[in-house]
Amino acid sequence: MSRAFNFSAGPAMLPESVIKQAEQELLNWNDSGMSVMEVSHRSVEYMAMAKNAEQTLREIMAIPDNYKVLFLHGGASLQFSAIPLNLTQPGDTADYFDTGVWSAKAIKEAQKYCHVNQVCQNHQRIPDTSDWKLSAKAKYVHYTPNETIGGLEFLSVPDVGDVPLIADMSSTILSRPVDVSKFGVIYAGAQKNIGPAGLAIAIVREDLIGQERDITPNLLNWKLCADNDSMFNTPPTFGWYLAGLVFDWIKDQGGLNAMAHHNETKANKLYQAIDSIDFYANPVEPSQRSWMNVPFTLKNPELDGLFLQQAKEAGLFNLKGHKLVGGMRASIYNAMPIEGVDALIDFMRDFAQAHA
Ligand SMILES: *Cc1c(COP(=O)(O)O)cnc(C)c1O
Repeated sequence: MSRAFNFSAGPAMLPESVIKQAEQELLNWNDSGMSVMEVSHRSVEYMAMAKNAEQTLREIMAIPDNYKVLFLHGGASLQFSAIPLNLTQPGDTADYFDTGVWSAKAIKEAQKYCHVNQVCQNHQRIPDTSDWKLSAKAKYVHYTPNETIGGLEFLSVPDVGDVPLIADMSSTILSRPVDVSKFGVIYAGAQKNIGPAGLAIAIVREDLIGQERDITPNLLNWKLCADNDSMFNTPPTFGWYLAGLVFDWIKDQGGLNAMAHHNETKANKLYQAIDSIDFYANPVEPSQRSWMNVPFTLKNPELDGLFLQQAKEAGLFNLKGHKLVGGMRASIYNAMPIEGVDALIDFMRDFAQAHA
């Protein structure tokens, strides 16, 4: 069977060559006679692989030396708690942008630990800078550069002065170059652009490490994780390995500039199709449309079921929109080839014609 075009928001498609390499060495990794899943994370070979994965990530993202790269458990969601537990004390204030479902989830978790000041609240449009209500005493500012469900993406990195800026990059990391030095912390769950679910990566500026609360659980304590090279306990070893293969793949493709070109091309094609075919609509302000997650609706929602069924028959999988917003969503992360987007557009045209 040929590979499906999988438009899932996550876990999402991985590059085929990466999966093939993993398959090839699944039984016998690095001439060890063992699977990478079976070797000790403290073995010389595994540690060398782990370090190398970090180095490649540092290289492709141009991560400055004063940042630690942590390979963590629990996806992005566990970092929702780690952030206030590492950066605030009870009673402190933190600023949060609320631009969508994931922002709101991060806020809800943070509210357990500190006072949250909402900088803005709008899930359809990122408000103008003049409408942001930043607090003078915030310990940090948190935002979600790409809202995976709403399909809203920040054009540029918000300027919040000297307050550390924390970004949940789960669904946009590695899709284009970013200036890491503008951030206090960048974090992401792996299952969109990095590798298998269960792994999270946090890139933390060193001066933000070591301010955790006494009650902070060990595995959420960035200092402990950094001091132990992310091996305070057994890390998600297979995920780390696979992430390393994905980083190599990105480097081979030409790095993040090449990814950006590839992603912008795919997104432009798809939005243009949605805008030009009367049958479909995307509600997001054009300048704030996500390159990674493209939600769209059908003019007649009664056809949603048929659309999904026929799409599947055409080899286009997981186009159903998130249950909170309905409609469709095409997630087109790094690993989605241009052929997948072309096939989707062809299908959308045919479907619209058949039901005009
Ligand atoms: C997927 C996603 C998450 C949740 O990631 P988990 O790894 O499942 O915790 C958080 N934030 C954003 C923006 C996401 O896209």
